Parts: sequence; structure tokens; C-alpha cells
Amino acid sequence: MREKARQIKDETLLHLDKYLERFAENAERAGATIHWARDGREACQIVLNLINERGAKNVVKSKSMATEEIHLNAALEKAGINPIETDLGEWIIQLAGETPSHIVVPAIHKTKGQIADLFVEKVGIEPTGDVDVLTRTARRILRRRFAEAEIGVSGVNFGVAETGTVLILENEGNARLTTSLPKTHIAVMGIEKIIPKFTDLDVFLKLLPRSGTGQRLTTYQSLITGTKRNSSDEGPEAVHIVLMDNGRSKMLSHPVTRQSLACIRCGACLNACPVYQAVGGHAYGSVYPGPIGAVITPQLIGNEKAKQLPFASSLCGACREVCPVKIDIPELLLHLRAEIADGAANGKKSATAPVGKTIERFGFGVYGLAWSSAGFYRLGTKTGRLMQKLVAKNGKIGRVSGLLAEIAPPLGNWTEFRDAPTIAQKSFREIWKDDLAVK
Ligand code: SF4
Repeated sequence: MREKARQIKDETLLHLDKYLERFAENAERAGATIHWARDGREACQIVLNLINERGAKNVVKSKSMATEEIHLNAALEKAGINPIETDLGEWIIQLAGETPSHIVVPAIHKTKGQIADLFVEKVGIEPTGDVDVLTRTARRILRRRFAEAEIGVSGVNFGVAETGTVLILENEGNARLTTSLPKTHIAVMGIEKIIPKFTDLDVFLKLLPRSGTGQRLTTYQSLITGTKRNSSDEGPEAVHIVLMDNGRSKMLSHPVTRQSLACIRCGACLNACPVYQAVGGHAYGSVYPGPIGAVITPQLIGNEKAKQLPFASSLCGACREVCPVKIDIPELLLHLRAEIADGAANGKKSATAPVGKTIERFGFGVYGLAWSSAGFYRLGTKTGRLMQKLVAKNGKIGRVSGLLAEIAPPLGNWTEFRDAPTIAQKSFREIWKDDLAVK
């Protein structure tokens, strides 16, 4: 199944120009209007123009990583439009003023208690620990928003070239309401989302839900081909599809980076990644976290702005193992590392290799020496145990700030989003010697 999916994606990406044109022709034949956006700024402007042309004030959105990528909400808010996220997780982080920490489960970093406190503060409910009450509150508020909305903005999971159809997969029904209740539907879609034939959906409909959420099939699959046909039908009177490049053509131009565009945003590589599991999504400082974020973010915003990301990996290959379209993420990481190192070797200021820094080299040299000697290792962990008393509280190291963060910046950066665990009071050898050895 994975082989088949990859073959379809490779074939599409190799002839993307042809399939995009076919998709655009067929979508327009069905009544949709196609817009082409070279970058995020253009895509935001197109959406804003469409909203302004209709004099719309009420906009609802369903979950879309493409619109997160181009910071559409911020662009609309700047123009006085307040779009409402309607996916429960997205709505929670919108209320909290945060960004998603996972591409499939945006509020995975929040506990039930934190969400309850947020609802008390932002929507004025009585304090509760009952999840049903929380979800019913969200449903009650969002239903009204759907009824008022003049425009619905969505992302797209797949665009079928053969028919001009867009497919949106979801579990909450909010995407279907977003795309069918308002009179105008705007779909923002990366150009890589195209697949050639309707029957190709068979393989992706099996792979995406299984890899994303472990489901055989998502609860809703909305297939949208143009506008409603008759005035008595349900559905939007106008459908606009914004086909966005935003750095994708550049990825397409190299055989190694091209595979980044095969990604179907299932999130499986995040769930399998030991680094993501330890640091969470916000630590990546980018819209796309985890292994796929580490490879596409530098390509989207430039190596200069995301030069640490390709290095933030152990190259264990767990992401490659689980990826439903067999993207070789470790190969991509090495490719980007080489690009960054080459940039540094050529004296390009824009791509300084992190490993080239003298202090860092010195630090890792000392670390290597100390950790290759049992005596130094024991001394190091004993010293660490003493030192951590300065910052540890209730068995963990919370946010480190002030003088200590200035002396040791990594400590401040590492604890900005996540607590660090403390060194155990006793090593395994000490436990063995003191408590477990047969005396
Ligand atoms: S790289 Fe593969 S595993 Fe990761 S999100 Fe994309 S399709 Fe899923």
C-alpha cells in the first residue's frame, strides 16, 4: 500500500504542471474559481479580497495546516476580520492565543484541567472537570458561528485532477459545516496536494486515517466538486480554490527535496520521533514540527532562519519506518545538513553551520572526554545532582530564567516550553550496590 501511494505521488510530482492544469480546468468546469498564489502573502491577499468583495464579516475556518503556514488568521485580523476556528483543538489554541503543537492534534499539549480553566476565563463557564460539559460548550458556541458565517475557509487533503474534486477528511463534522453552510467556500491548497485519478483516493483513504489517528476511516469524508448545481440544493453558491506554491516549486526542482512534497500530513512521523516526544511541537519554533517540520521548514522559510532544525535529530530512522508514503526523512535531513555546512564553508553568512562554532566544539570535546571515562562520568553526575538543586522543584526543572539562563543559554532555551527531568538521586549502579545486591 505504501509503495503504491509513493508511486502515485512520484508520478504526480514529476508531471505536476500537467496535473495542476487538468485539476484547474475540471474544477472550473464544475463551477469553482481557481486562484494561483506564488507565496503566502499572495494567498492571504486573495482570501482577503474575496472576503472584502462580499463585505463579509463572519468567517469560519476548518483546520488547515496550509493556512497556518501562511499565517492567514493574523493577516485577516490585521484587516479587521476575526476568523473563528471550528475544529475543537484549533478553537482551544485560538482561545489560548497559541499555535498548534501537532499537525493532526493541535492542542495535544494541553491537559483537561488547562482547557477547563481556559473555558472559565474566555467563555465564562462555571469551573468543571467534565469533558462532556466542555465539548457541549464548544458545540453550542460554534454552532451559532456556523449559522452566522458568510464565508467558510478550509484546507484540502487531496485534489483530484481527473474531476477537479477536493477531498477533506475530518472527525468532527466542522469541516463539512464550514464548506456547506456559508454561501462562499474558499479552499487553500498547496500545489502538492494533487493526485491524478479519483480511484487513487482508494489507497490514500486507507493510508491517511490509519497513519494519522489509527482509524480505518475518518468519520467524515467531504468530496467537493464545484458549486451547488440547483438553487434548491444545499452547498455553497461560490467555491474558490487558492492553489499555493510558497516554496514548493523549489522543493520540486531537486530529486532529494522533491520527496518532501509527497507528505500527506498524517503526523505519524511526529508520533514515532523520540525527539518530538521529548520536546513537544512548540520547541521547533515553526508551524510544522517533528521530523517533517525539520525538513520542510528550512525549505519553506530558508536555511538561514531554521538552520538548527535539520540537526535536531538522532537520525534513528523511526520516521522513515512509519511514513505511509515512504519519505526518506533521514536522507533529507542529511541533504539539508550538507547544504547548511556547504553554505558555511563557502563563507555564506546566511547558512552558518551550528557545529562549526568554536565554543560548541570545545563544549562537546570536553563532554566526549568526560563521558568516555567511568570516573569522570560518576563525578559529572554527582556534580549535576548537586547543581540541579539550584533550579529543581518537585522533581523537575521548570523554566530557567535570569542570570542562570544567561550563563547557560541552552538551559533557558530547553526549559522555555518543557520541564526537564532531574538526574535521579541514585544511579542504577548505586541502587544495585546499596539495595539489590545479595548481601
Ligand atoms: S512525512 Fe510521512 S509520516 Fe510524516 S506527516 Fe508526512 S506523510 Fe506523515
